[in-house]
Formats: sequence, structure tokens, C-alpha cells
Amino acid sequence: MAVIRFSALEKVYDRKPVKIEPPSQKVSDYFGINVFDEVKMQKYLSKDAYEHVKESVVKGNPIDRKMANAVASGMKAWAMERGANHYTHWFQPLTGGTAEKHDAFLDFGGYKNVFETFSGRALSQQEPDASSFPSGGLRNTFEARGYTAWDPSSPAFVIDDTLSIPTIFISYTGEALDHKTPLLKSLNAVDEAATRVCKYFDKNVSRVQANLGWEQEYFLIDEALYYARPDLALTGRTLMGHASAKDQQLDDHYFSSIPERVGAFMKELEIESYKLGIPLKTRHNEVAPNQYELAPIFNECNLAVDQNLLIMELMKKISRHHGFRVLFHEKPFKGVNGTGKHNNWSLSTDTGVILHSPGKNPKSNLQFLTFIVNTIKAVYDHQDLLRASIMTATNHHRLGANEAPPSILSCFLGSEVSNMLDQIEEQVTSKKMTPDEKTELKLDIGKIPEILLDNTDRNRTSPFAFTGNRFEFRAVGGMANCATPMAILNAAVADQLNYFSREVDKLIDKGVKKDEAIFQVLRKQIIASKVIRFEGDNYSEEWSREAAKRGLTNITDVPESIKAFLSDSSKKLLFDLGIYGDMELEGRVEVMMENYILKVQIEARVLGDLAINHIVPTVVKYQNVLMDNVTRLKDLYGENYKELSGNRTELIKEISERITKIKAMVNEMVEERKVANRIDSAYERANAYSKKVFPYLENIRYHIDKLELIVDDEMWPLPKYRELLFSN
Ligand code: ADP
Ligand code: MG
Repeated sequence: MAVIRFSALEKVYDRKPVKIEPPSQKVSDYFGINVFDEVKMQKYLSKDAYEHVKESVVKGNPIDRKMANAVASGMKAWAMERGANHYTHWFQPLTGGTAEKHDAFLDFGGYKNVFETFSGRALSQQEPDASSFPSGGLRNTFEARGYTAWDPSSPAFVIDDTLSIPTIFISYTGEALDHKTPLLKSLNAVDEAATRVCKYFDKNVSRVQANLGWEQEYFLIDEALYYARPDLALTGRTLMGHASAKDQQLDDHYFSSIPERVGAFMKELEIESYKLGIPLKTRHNEVAPNQYELAPIFNECNLAVDQNLLIMELMKKISRHHGFRVLFHEKPFKGVNGTGKHNNWSLSTDTGVILHSPGKNPKSNLQFLTFIVNTIKAVYDHQDLLRASIMTATNHHRLGANEAPPSILSCFLGSEVSNMLDQIEEQVTSKKMTPDEKTELKLDIGKIPEILLDNTDRNRTSPFAFTGNRFEFRAVGGMANCATPMAILNAAVADQLNYFSREVDKLIDKGVKKDEAIFQVLRKQIIASKVIRFEGDNYSEEWSREAAKRGLTNITDVPESIKAFLSDSSKKLLFDLGIYGDMELEGRVEVMMENYILKVQIEARVLGDLAINHIVPTVVKYQNVLMDNVTRLKDLYGENYKELSGNRTELIKEISERITKIKAMVNEMVEERKVANRIDSAYERANAYSKKVFPYLENIRYHIDKLELIVDDEMWPLPKYRELLFSN
């Protein structure tokens, strides 16, 4: 009988790299060719229409109806030249991916009267049936109708024959049903709050934008092997598989040369990304075998989020041209480096200053320190909410798994900035500074950029690290939509900046000089958030002990972590800034809990199926071979057989014991699921899945992995780790 694993491996051996012909033009000539960006708007829109769109991008206004018609007709003309004959609203429902429903431009006025239309209304708004998308409680309470509405701050683009229009997705009564809407609200909040603070330093600042540069890690697995692993295909991760004798111990994959087949995939991906205006900059092999990373040049946060979602879709599609499947799951292989998506985040002004980047003089560096300190304080105050924003059924496997940030939030600053904060804390503590001390502090502050340039020792273990001109939020998962973690971070920082300017204004009103007032408030924030600063090894045991002593939270349980969205402080933050409404938040948490339950449920079912229908029968067959062998030895050697077959008899026994355990645990797991499914409250149900069902996944796997080591390789049905990880 053919073992599916071997026919899959044969396909792998037969693969040849696809030859990718790069376009004859240079990248700068075709970059953004499929994006309706400013240049195209200027060409295809009237002056009025162009200015209207520009204004609504800056001010966040909706496009007015009349203008929408003009914009739509220009957009259609451009899109048709790019080969489009359909359009779609492209949105981000709470499922995690993106959604689209294509409509043709085609209109029909009777025989031989066929033409293409695209009205302002079709551009501005669509009404997809919301009832098939997750909405938590919202769906039961409100009409099922949902609206998508154009987000002009993210430009439309053409893929294949379709014009895609980035949109928000809201319910009939205006509640957000997507990830984008809260992000946009948070971007406004942080813009307002940060602009107010910037005015202390520079009156010319009138807008602050958040930036995001994501680094996307991923695995490429041969498609044939992927199909031969039902667990990978159905859950995105391997639910079983013994470690390969060699995986990443030798650190020989990171930055090593890129295999030809993978290189071809990357090339094609880059060409398509450039056409869509995604400025990919780096590509390299990651730590684990068959693991890679790519990163673009950073962009405005909302646009960067859209581009990340877009590139994930492109990667799924293009990987298949090369016989690969791309994995974004945060932990596809046990014991092997997981997949994260570092979110490099910063704020910058419309005057061209990156606020998280040190300046050239004491004044701009005081501004820099202001933004650093307030960011740290925001992370400290909302550590639980930030964790909740990245915690999912899949990402929780990665966090704390000794190669990824732990579930304790902390900030790394590097010794220079850290020392600077200590200095501010100490100097201002001594009640009143002498003029000399003040000058000295100012001089020190002025020196920051010089020393930072030399600061190359980066702490790779920190979940939230300052890296010279930005913070890197490293706990975000590989599969995640960055919108939610970015919305939470923006909101937390906005709230803290609002608090900061209120406090500074109070002091100024009392007659304290502006710089002095800023120093005093900064000092308080530095002291209040000091415990979140950590420069050491975040993977170490000592750190979890130390963090506990400091009162930092460390929540590894998924439902418990998600619950942080509903704490008083989270609600206050999110409601005050209008990021979520009451119902929206409840609905969203419900969706997150359900999502967790469903993911664990699917894994439990798949594992049960694999264990009982694939593994146990294979193992029994092998056991029969062993038993046959022992019986024959007995026939040949009589009672002497024992000595000769001792080791096989042991194996036969071990196999029986493990099978018995596996079968018993699969049954127990099914029973626990039944109990859990009867629980009404989503949180309690999720809790039951986490505490009662989930542990079986690991326990059952343990025995299967042991059996993998025993059973004849030729019989083993599923591709092994060494094959999955070393096939490119
Ligand atoms: P590393 O792997 O060393 O952290 P990469 O070059 O892979 O760095 O990725 C860093 C990402 O951070 C890139 O997307 C880069 O454009 C982005 N980035 C750089 N400066 C900033 C900034 N000020 N704000 C936001 N993102 C930034
Ligand atoms: Mg990085």
C-alpha cells in the first residue's frame, strides 16, 4: 500500500525552480503602477475632485455625493486602462482576513446597448450582508445589514481584473464590524493628542501621523507535503511530529543564502508588490529552516496595515505558482522558531520630524524624551490591554516559547536613553535644580543623538523595544491583522499624551515656566512607569520572578488575557477616546472568545481524527509485524526466543500502552468538549476549552511523537519534521 508521505516526497524531488523574468523597466518606473495614487488622481480627476479627496484624507471627512461621481468616473477610466472590468469594496471583517465581493462595471441598457458604469454611490458605499460575518452580540441586536464605506486615506488599487477599494465595514446602526474602523479612530486620537504636545516645542506642527513598518516572518512548505499533513492544511500548524535530529541548533539558516525556488517566489512577489506600491526593502532567511522574512519601508499606519494584509494575500497566491504553501501561523512546528510580525511604530509630524527620533539640540531632544517617556508610561498603564490585543489561540503558542517575547510586557530602551531618564529622575528630585545643574542636564540631553548612533546593542528578547527612532512591538503574531494592536497602542499613547498636556498646562497656569513644567511632569511619568523598563534577557526564568516582584502581570491563558479588554481601565480608555462603543467592545470580545473556542475545537477534532484513523492503525500494523516476528522466533528457537526477541517484546508492550493511552485521552477530550459546548457564557466556554480541552492536545501528541520514533519509517503516514523543514 502506498504511503501518501512518499508520493508527496517524490513530487518534492521533481520540482524545478520557476524562472521569473523581471519587467524590462526599473522598479522606480513601474512602482505603484496599479495604485490610484496622487499622481493618477491628478491625471484622472478634475481639480475640484482631486482637492476634495485630498481634503477628506487630511480631515477624515466623507466624500460628498456629487464629488463621489466625479471621483468614481476618473477612477473607472484609470482602472479600465489597467485592465479592470470589475470592482470590489475590500474590507477587514473580524474573521481576520480580508473580504471582497466583486461586481462588474457592466451595465445593460438593452441589446447592443452594453456599457461600463461605476457610480459615486458604488464607490462610496456597498451593502454586503453582514450576517455571515462575525459580530459578537451585535448581530442579534441589530439589523443584519452592513455597510462598507470608502476609506479615501488608503488608495484604491487594481489586482487582476478588479478595482479594489479599501473600505470600513459597519453595521446599519454604525457599529464597527471590522478592524479598520477602530484603527482610524485611534489614529485621529493620537494625531490630536500628539499635535497638542508638539505645540510646546514647535507651533508649526498641525498634524501627527503614526507610522508602521512591519516585518513579516513566514514559512514556505512544499505544497505536496502540506497536503499530506491534514493538521497543517486544516489548522495551520502541526499537531504532532517528533523534533528533527537537526533543526535550528547550528544557527545555519539565518541570513544564509536563499534557495533558488524560494528566490523565484520572492522575486515574483516583489514585482507584484512594487506594482501595488508596497515598498519591500529586505528579504532574508530567518532562524528556523524553511523560515523567511520580508519587510517594507515603513508607511503611514493605516496604509501599512492595508499593505500588510494585501501582501499576505499575494503571498498565499504567489507561493502556489512555485509549489509552496505559505504559513503565517505563529507556531507551525513545536520546538522550532515561531512566526512573528514585529510592528515598528513611531509618530511623526507634518513638519517632517520623527518624534521618536532624537533631535539635534536640547529642545528637540526634550521633545524626543517627552514622546519616549509617554509611550513607556502608556505601555505600563495598559500592559494587559496590549497583551490582549495580540493574544490569540495561535499566537499564545509562540509567546514565551523561549524564542519570542514572553507574555510579560516590558520596554527596552538601551543604556543611553535609560541613563538619561535616570538622570532626569534624580536631578529634578533634588527639589530645585541649580542653574549649573540645569545647564548640565540640557547639555546631556543635547548629546543624545551622538551616543545613540553608536548604540548597536539591541535587545532581541524584548516585547517592546526602542530601536533608535521607533519602538518595535514584537509580540504581534505572524497571522495577525496589525490593526488592533496598533489601535490599542495609538489609543494608549493618545490617552497618556492627553494626560501629559493637561498636567503641563496646569503647572503653566500656576506660573511654572514651560520647560520646567515639562520636566516636572516627565519626571513623574518616569518614576511611575519605571518598573516596566527592563534591559535584560526577557526569556530568562529570573525575569518572570523579577517581573512578578515588580507587580507586572504575566498572563498566558488566552481567555483570561482577552478579558482585559473589559477591565475598567480599558473601558475608560477606549470609550473616552471613542475607539469602541460599549456594544462594539462587548461584541468584539465575544468574537475573540468564539474564535479561540473554534480554533481549539478544530484542533481537537483534527487531532482526534489523525490519532484514531491515521496513527493508531499504522502503529497496530507495525505491532503486528513485530508480533509476527516474535512468533516466528519462537517457532524456530523454542523457549530460547525470549532472549532473542526481548527488545521487540518491549516495543510491543510499549505500543500497546501508548495506544491505550491515546485512545482513552481522545475519548476524554471528546467528553470535555461536550461539557464545554453546553456552557452558555462565551468566556466560561472559552475557559473550559483552555483549561479542560487544550491540555489534551499536548498530552496526546506526546505519545504519538514517541511512537513516531518506534514505528518503521516506511509505514509512517505523515511527512516528518525533517522533511517538512528541509525540503526547499
Ligand atoms: P530589523 O530586522 O533590524 O529590526 P528591518 O530593517 O528588518 O529591521 O525592519 C525594520 C522596519 O522598521 C522596516 O520596515 C523599517 O522601514 C521600519 N522603520 C524604520 N524606521 C522607522 C520609524 N521611525 N518608524 C516606523 N518604522 C520604522
Ligand atoms: Mg526588527
